[in-house]
Amino acid sequence: MKLNLNIQPLNTWITSGKEPLVIAGPCSAETEDQLVATAQLLAKTGKITALRAGIWKPRTRPGEFEGIGSIGLEWLKRAKEETGLPTAVEVATAKHVEEALAAGVDILWVGARSTANPFTVQEIADALQGVDVPVMVKNPVNPDLSLWIGALERINNAGITKLAAIHRGFSSYGNTTFRNDPMWDLAISLKTQVPDLPIINDPSHITGNRDLIGYIAQKAFDLDMQGVMIESHIDPSVAWTDAKQQVTPAALSDIIDNLTLRKAEVKSAAVSDKLAELRAKIDKIDDLIIQKVAERMNIAEQIGKYKKDNNITILQVNRWEEILKKTTDYGKALKLDAEFTEKLLELVHTESIRRQGIILNEGQEQVEEKLTQA
Ligand code: PEP
Ligand code: MN
Repeated sequence: MKLNLNIQPLNTWITSGKEPLVIAGPCSAETEDQLVATAQLLAKTGKITALRAGIWKPRTRPGEFEGIGSIGLEWLKRAKEETGLPTAVEVATAKHVEEALAAGVDILWVGARSTANPFTVQEIADALQGVDVPVMVKNPVNPDLSLWIGALERINNAGITKLAAIHRGFSSYGNTTFRNDPMWDLAISLKTQVPDLPIINDPSHITGNRDLIGYIAQKAFDLDMQGVMIESHIDPSVAWTDAKQQVTPAALSDIIDNLTLRKAEVKSAAVSDKLAELRAKIDKIDDLIIQKVAERMNIAEQIGKYKKDNNITILQVNRWEEILKKTTDYGKALKLDAEFTEKLLELVHTESIRRQGIILNEGQEQVEEKLTQA
């Protein structure tokens, strides 16, 4: 299902002529010196399109630094005057919107915790009525695509057409490689459902770890995202918030230099012929995979009938373990990752079991029918 939002193309409202689009700046504005000095070094790299800074910080626990507040807007104004960089801040209330606009902030963004709350998003949207300002909407903390789309719709309904999404990953329980799991599929679904919507990736909040920022940024560009937002601090070791994920302006400059920007559209005829040939091969194999899976399901159903006639349980653990071992070993020999083979098999096996369950229950329903008729 496609959703038509009234959105102006990104390059009509964020014009720097720089490739790739990088929004950078500290997680939080801490002091005037820290903010202005960071902004100056960022601007000097010549690779930054806009300056970000958190002025009001949504903190998980009370007692943590909750942002410097309105005074930071003055510092941001100075940073803009001295560097010429447009500025971006997070807004979470109508008051934040009013103050940020009054201070001449160029881009507003809605944070992940706010996107998760439709009341908050609506309050922000109401404050934006009649205002022509770019707004970026971070994904909600929980992996719920509707909440993300809903927030974008609310902001768009308020008349904001300079609109983009920010993909900053999703909370998950337990230890994971990333601070926030990227769940790329969700960002891809958003792009599929709202094709005109630019998506900016936030590798800092996804990784929570400065060493992985380049890797995630590259992946985002490979998935055709339009830009990145990266946290940068003049001295990350003493940052008041998100110290582990911030990079110096110099380190950020290296990260940007190491990115490879690939084109979504292929220009050369030779390249596109080769691509078409390889894609045709893939399509054929996909057809075969589906055909074989369907054949396998057919046989699984025959087994289901047999099990029913002979009163055998659907799942025989030994048999399943044997299939798993045999097939992952075979996969390994063919250079397939064991975890991948296991996941694939599990998916197919779960569907087989579901179908066999239907066959068994079909009988039961008939029995129940007979029983109720009696
Ligand atoms: C931030 O950008 O500093 C921030 C608080 O991000 P998020 O809303 O993604 O947690
Ligand atoms: Mn942060």
